[in-house]
Amino acid sequence: MTARILVVDDVQANVKLLEARLSAEYFDVVSATNGFDALEICAAGGIDIVLLDVMMPGMDGFEVCRRIKADPKNHHVPVIMVTALDQPEDRVKGLEAGADDFLTKPVSDIAITTRVKSLVRVKTLVDEMQTRAATGEELGFGEQLDLIVRQPVSNGRILIVDDRMSSFERIAGMLQNQHEVVIEPDPQQAVFNAAEGDYELVLISMSLKNFDGLRLCSQIRSLDRTRNLPILTIVDPNDDARLLRAIEMGVNDYVMRPIDKNELFARVRTQIRRKRYTDKLSDSFQHNMEMAVTDALTNLHNRRYMESHLKTLVANSSKSGKPLSLMIIDIDFFKAVNDTHGHDAGDDVLREFSNRLQRNIRGIDLACRFGGEEFVVVMPETDISLAYTVAERIRRVIADKTFLVNGGRLTQDITTSIGISGLRGINDTPENLLKRADEALYQAKNDGRNRVVADAA
Ligand code: GH3
Ligand code: MG
Ligand code: MG
Repeated sequence: MTARILVVDDVQANVKLLEARLSAEYFDVVSATNGFDALEICAAGGIDIVLLDVMMPGMDGFEVCRRIKADPKNHHVPVIMVTALDQPEDRVKGLEAGADDFLTKPVSDIAITTRVKSLVRVKTLVDEMQTRAATGEELGFGEQLDLIVRQPVSNGRILIVDDRMSSFERIAGMLQNQHEVVIEPDPQQAVFNAAEGDYELVLISMSLKNFDGLRLCSQIRSLDRTRNLPILTIVDPNDDARLLRAIEMGVNDYVMRPIDKNELFARVRTQIRRKRYTDKLSDSFQHNMEMAVTDALTNLHNRRYMESHLKTLVANSSKSGKPLSLMIIDIDFFKAVNDTHGHDAGDDVLREFSNRLQRNIRGIDLACRFGGEEFVVVMPETDISLAYTVAERIRRVIADKTFLVNGGRLTQDITTSIGISGLRGINDTPENLLKRADEALYQAKNDGRNRVVADAA
């Protein structure tokens, strides 16, 4: 994991110290000794994380942070504020300025490595998803993400795993004004709850009485359903070895006992916000994936998907020796529907046609809109005579019942012509299969339409 980190501190010695530690972890370090230079470097782009000192002459760290977060190009760049231990109110101010995390001086090695690595991991993920999600169709999507970044985080769904009453009552007490908190003292039950519930964060105590907290973290990380659930651990001071193991396992962040309320608040807020942000991005990515393989008008698969899937089905069928058939369906005189009732009525027919088609094939059959008013159905484990029966059924469910168009005000009778072909042995190809079905379709049209013709094998 590598990343470019901007270190901002007016004291040269502090810059050097942080630089040395970060370089040892193979991070690429850039530095600035005042806020103005820092903003200029950020504006130029390419910074993955900013480590920002609070006390600086000219412009203090809070102001620098506010300005970075106000820049739409950079507001998702994580900012870690470096505050003095004796100034706890700085943390609150930092949060108000939009800081993602903070470290206290003197900065410990483990703290800096952990915080930076955890933020880099998220930043990399977000960058990648943003690139994938950023398409023209996603109108308003950028604003939705902005909203998540800017809105205060409340009503987070949090699972606390802790079997010491005094401890969990204290933690829950700190959080339950703002969030929905569930306490689970039994670690095995907790894994189950985490997988079944709709949580946004799990808080795990590392000092459970009867169970190894590390084991619990590892279980949650390894289950599919909880892999992306953020984990915040509560650790005892002087337990660096276990903390390191937890971090290696992919625990997102930690809070040291005795728990500082502001710090807990901030870390919880950061994790939940990130979870919401990445969930939104992955929803959008999912949506784009679906868009890429689905025809928007009919919700059937599109031609691109069918062509790639047909290759696989033909290969499988050649290997297994099981039959494979395919039909091309073309609506008869469809142009006349548009000409008589208008294009919208034509679209109504295409949608209703697709519904009838989908209802009359099996789950393993693949229906797609091949183009215009032409459809293809691929039927695995189906020989050509069985395919003929299916095609006849489809032809009838289209012809037998009139179509409603223009919001049900008008009716239109529709018929179809269908051409069928079947795979002929291991040397046959998807292209030839389609070509023979198309020739059979041409025959059906010539023979007078509203009929099924099978390729004479
Ligand atoms: P044939 O029986 O020979 O198939 O005659 P046809 O009129 O169905 O065939 P032709 O290929 O001449 O016309 C197809 C028409 O389908 C022309 C085109 O405007 C229309 N069409 C294609 N895609 C769409 C669409 O998405 N919506 C609507 N409403 N019409 C479409
Ligand atoms: Mg047609
Ligand atoms: Mg046509």
